[in-house]
Amino acid sequence: MTQTLHIVGGGMAGSEAAWQAANAGCRVVIHEMRPKVETFAHRTGNLAEMVCSNSFRSDDDEQNAVGLLHWEMRQAGGIIMATADAHKLPAGGALAVDRDPFAEAVTAKLTAHPNISVSYEEVDSLPDDGHWIIATGPLTSGKLAEAIRAETGAEALAFFDAIAPIVYAETIDMGIAWEQSRYDKGETEEEQKAYINCPMTKDQYEAFIDALLAADKTEFKEGETAGYFDGCLPIEVMAERGRETLRHGPMKPIGLTNPHNPTEKAYAVAQLRRDNALGTLYNIVGFQTKMKYGAQTEVFRMIPGLQDAKFARLGGIHRNTFLNSPTLLDGQMRLKSRPNIRFAGQITGVEGYVESAAMGLLAGRLAVAEMTGTALPPVPHTTAMGALVTHITGGAEAKTFQPMNVNFGLFPPVEGLKGGRRGRKDRYKAYTDRAKADWAEWLAASALDAA
Ligand SMILES: Cc1cc2nc3c(=O)[nH]c(=O)nc-3n(C[C@H](O)[C@H](O)[C@H](O)COP(=O)(O)OP(=O)(O)OC[C@H]3O[C@@H](n4cnc5c(N)ncnc54)[C@H](O)[C@@H]3O)c2cc1C
Repeated sequence: MTQTLHIVGGGMAGSEAAWQAANAGCRVVIHEMRPKVETFAHRTGNLAEMVCSNSFRSDDDEQNAVGLLHWEMRQAGGIIMATADAHKLPAGGALAVDRDPFAEAVTAKLTAHPNISVSYEEVDSLPDDGHWIIATGPLTSGKLAEAIRAETGAEALAFFDAIAPIVYAETIDMGIAWEQSRYDKGETEEEQKAYINCPMTKDQYEAFIDALLAADKTEFKEGETAGYFDGCLPIEVMAERGRETLRHGPMKPIGLTNPHNPTEKAYAVAQLRRDNALGTLYNIVGFQTKMKYGAQTEVFRMIPGLQDAKFARLGGIHRNTFLNSPTLLDGQMRLKSRPNIRFAGQITGVEGYVESAAMGLLAGRLAVAEMTGTALPPVPHTTAMGALVTHITGGAEAKTFQPMNVNFGLFPPVEGLKGGRRGRKDRYKAYTDRAKADWAEWLAASALDAA
């Protein structure tokens, strides 16, 4: 192959994309700004540096969606998983990694690859031609972020995530909660029932505010905070401004009638809004938070109707540069307005080391297929890889799009299985069995021969 694939950013996604493309016979240049230009979180000049925790989370490929993603990446010969396996530390069912030897080994393998070269420089503009993957992550440098913003529009590139917790729909108690949009707004019945409402009495509300104020919170890191307060106040900060603030904000009870108890007005209402096209996930509207994860579960389960809620992801607010991918990227992860550029990794709106590397793996393969004129079958939605890429490139609600971990709520349901907690083990096994068969078939059908 005479063409070169340029990859900007040698983190989790860029490293994996480079490995996949180079092994398929493609010449690759990785453009990495560190160590010349630093970020507030990275410490070294290594490729694939883990910036915070040293965990790749659960390694259970039968009962856990991220464990399944590990499995799929191993099947595809991924460098990130192979190197993590070689440097794993004891951590029960999780895959913990000895971070420095891990990053050093990824760097050594990539720099020794005959098809890969690394150019240590900051890229500060969007290239007009050639084949490019931009994988510059949550801490994309300022100049490049500005260039992306100029191309996509200010609304479509965020610098912070303000994540409200996301609940599995099947774990909401609809004997307490009900479906209704405020004032029954909307043309269709679906729109008039677009929200799930959880009612609170005065006593329940007061207890909830007490718990919010007392909960353990996470501190911001240095360099992380500037500008985040615009329009995304953490729920506990709202509560600190006055005990009634939430009742006049995201928890206002007006325009809603509880069909389980129509004569009594709720004192406050927490609302949940659909988070994906499948209708399997709901986010708690306006509940972005800096509470620690353990505290969040406890506090949010105080909301009537959510007492048994299971969370697909908990809330957070972080420095995070990410695109509104559902509107900007096509199904091949290409920028619609400049199809010579793909995006991969956390900047596409996935969250986490593993998910970012997974999107790099896919972007690398898709780029090579395009460069060699090979038609790849679509990645099955039933696989962890397919569920993620489908979510970011169209399955998610564009208006409320926030970064997402892989979870079973993104998968199309397997028909004919028992719902609820009791059926969970069989259901998850059915998801992972189906995913493994479909991923193996996709890999076999989309083999990219070294050219
Ligand atoms: C403070 C912080 C803590 C986090 N903690 C965790 C955690 O504990 N667990 C977890 O799973 N995830 C965590 N994340 C998310 C984490 O960043 C991602 O999971 C993962 O690193 C994203 O991979 P990536 O390849 O998209 O980005 P990165 O791994 O960040 O790689 C992007 C690379 O692009 C380079 N780059 C940026 N701009 C340019 C440019 N203009 N030109 C050239 N190179 C450029 C950067 O130097 C970097 O090497 C954290 C993120 C932050 C910011």
